[in-house]
Order: sequence, then C-alpha cells, then structure tokens
Amino acid sequence: MKYEIALLRGDGIGPEIVDSAVRVLKAIAVKFGHEFIFTPYLIGGAAIDEVGVPLPDATVEGCLRSDSVLLGAVGGPKWDTLPGNLRPEKALLGIRKALGLFTNLRPARLYPALKDSCPLRESVAANGFDIMIVRELTGGIYFGDRGYREGKYGEEAFDTECYSRFEIERIARVAFETAKKRRSKVTSIDKANVLETSRLWRKTVHELAAEYADVECSDMLVDNAAMQLVKNPAQFDVVLTSNMFGDILSDEASQITGSIGLLPSASLSDNTRGMYEPIHGSAPDIAGKGIANPIATILSAAMMLRYSFSLSAEADAIENAVSSVLNDGLRTADIAAKGDPFLTTAEMTDAITERI
Ligand code: NAD
Repeated sequence: MKYEIALLRGDGIGPEIVDSAVRVLKAIAVKFGHEFIFTPYLIGGAAIDEVGVPLPDATVEGCLRSDSVLLGAVGGPKWDTLPGNLRPEKALLGIRKALGLFTNLRPARLYPALKDSCPLRESVAANGFDIMIVRELTGGIYFGDRGYREGKYGEEAFDTECYSRFEIERIARVAFETAKKRRSKVTSIDKANVLETSRLWRKTVHELAAEYADVECSDMLVDNAAMQLVKNPAQFDVVLTSNMFGDILSDEASQITGSIGLLPSASLSDNTRGMYEPIHGSAPDIAGKGIANPIATILSAAMMLRYSFSLSAEADAIENAVSSVLNDGLRTADIAAKGDPFLTTAEMTDAITERI
C-alpha cells in the first residue's frame, strides 16, 4: 500500500524525534512492503521564522492532501514574547480545527520494565495498567460562549459548557469501537450529580451502550475518577470524557506512567486522516543535544498505522519493538536510573528499528 504522510517537525526536539519516527516507518515499509511518502511542512516557531505566521496556508493545504499527519512539537522561549495569535502554540488549535479533529486518543500504559519510574505505591504499580483515554476535542466549555459582564459583585467572567446529543454520541461511538478492539470496557466520566450537560452525556452514552451489548459500560463521577486513577488504575480500559475532564484526567494519567517521553497521542476526525503526536512539548532545555526520548513519537507513528491505515500487524511490530528494548534494559536519559548509562536519540532509534 502507498500512503502520503505530512511531517510537521516544528521546534525544539520536534525535528529530532520526527526524524526518528520516519526511520522506524521506513523500516516498517521495507518489512511489510508498503510505500510511505513523507512531505515536510512548516509549523510553529519554524514557520514564524520562515514566513511570519505559525500555521501557513500551505501547511493546512498539504495536511488536507495527505493521508495522515505526524507532528513533533511547537514552541520555545524564542517566540514566547510574541502576541497570542502569533505564538507557535496557536498553530495547534488551527490545524486541529482545519482537520476536524474531534477525538483525542491518549493511551497511558505502565510498561512492566518501567514500574520503578511509576510514582504510585509499589503494590499499585505492580499490577501495571493500560488505559486509553478517549477525549472529546472540539466541544464543551473550551469552545462555549464566554465573556465579561457586570454582576452582583461587580465585574465577573463566565464560560459556558454546551454539548449536543450529536457530539456526545459521536465521541461515545469512538469509545465503544475502541473498547471492542481492547478489553471491551468503557468507563464514561461525567458530573451528572451537578451538571445538565453531564446528564445529557450520561443519557446519550446509555442509549448508545444498548447497541454495544458486548462492551461493559459504567459511569463514574469525575472527582471519583481522579481518585481512582491513583488508587487503582488497573481497573480502567477505555475512559470516555468530555473536553475539559479529559484534559485534566489525561495529564494525571500520563504522570502515573512515569515518563512524558513515552506517551503518544492520536487526534481523529470522521475520516481516516488523523494527526499523531507525542504528548510532550518541544523540550527546549534538551533540544539539539541528541538525548530526547523518541519513543512517544515512534509510538504515535504506530497509532497512525493502526487508526488511519488499519495496519494492525505493522503497528504491533513497532509496539513490540519498543517493549523489547525496554525489557532489555535500554534507556534514554529521561528514563535511566540516576548514574546509569543511557542511549542517545539516534541509538534508541537504531535499537528499535533493528528489532523491527
Ligand atoms: P515539555 O513537554 O516540552 O518539557 C517538559 C520536561 O520534559 C522538560 O524537562 C523536557 O526536557 C522533558 N521532556 C519532554 N519531552 C521529552 C522527551 N521526548 N525526552 C526527554 N525529555 C523530555 O514542556 P514545557 O517545557 O512546559 O514546554 C516547552 C515548550 O513546548 C513550550 O513552548 C510549550 O508551549 C510547548 N508545548 C508544545 C506542545 C505541543 O507542541 N503539542 C505541548 C506542550 C508544550
């Protein structure tokens, strides 16, 4: 098969880690007989430096022409003093909107080999966990009516949470379909004891659950979910959330895995084109040193194969190669024990491609 992949390398460590993922994808192409065509486009600070805006039209058009998009990260101190609409990070909202990415998939997995990096109690970490957070990305309070007004106590500000049945059903369907490919369990997060949007959320999820008799579905209040994530993360398979609850819970989940350098993400639309990126930022403190952990971006490429191209065996090959290097004790600086030797970005990429 032949696939066109847009590369948005971005800033800081972005170019280093995207290039690692490209090397791994090239190894997959050879092993499985595919053709991946990579086309780079400017985004973030690199785009500001080159053409004066963080998200050039040519980048949006190129992504829309591609089968999928791989993003490194954007931002850095060089551009921190620019006005809001010219900041590199502005490009992220713009590209998500242009591609209609309403689903955010964030796996949070504790690799057995890395359980010592987990900040949770040993008895909790010992069970490991493998959670997939399915977060709604284009609705809710981040996109609702907002403003300032005069209130009872003078100036006040307000934000509005609004969800339609359509938006809830659309994201819930993604969660149920995802669960079918995993351990068939969905935990739907809401605050139905207080919020009207949550009551519609819960009702809509229950109605849809009737179509998925083979998937176990339960509700959990968001405050309880925040506690359960640190008390017993192994209980979760797929966690379905609104935009804001998912923003908060997915960061909590990423922290209990022990390293930000390992976690991939996928943002999906209603077609097969998605955008795949590590959850971390551009790490300006280590940019150019060749020591960034490429695994989050490499695993993002695996998600691209699985979710955009339906290439499960190829995705498995990458994920197994990553597990294998970790099981063999290979570490980059961020996950090595203090004083232990570690691999550079290029050496870790070599080790993964060799196992493919
Ligand atoms: P960050 O994720 O870039 O870095 C936080 C810490 O984690 C740093 O110490 C960094 O060295 C380390 N780290 C991150 N990724 C790593 C990797 N792959 N390997 C090893 N260590 C890694 O977050 P930050 O420092 O808050 O932000 C830096 C810049 O990135 C800012 O300009 C911010 O706006 C931007 N940012 C971009 C995105 C994105 O592009 N999606 C996301 C978050 C932050």
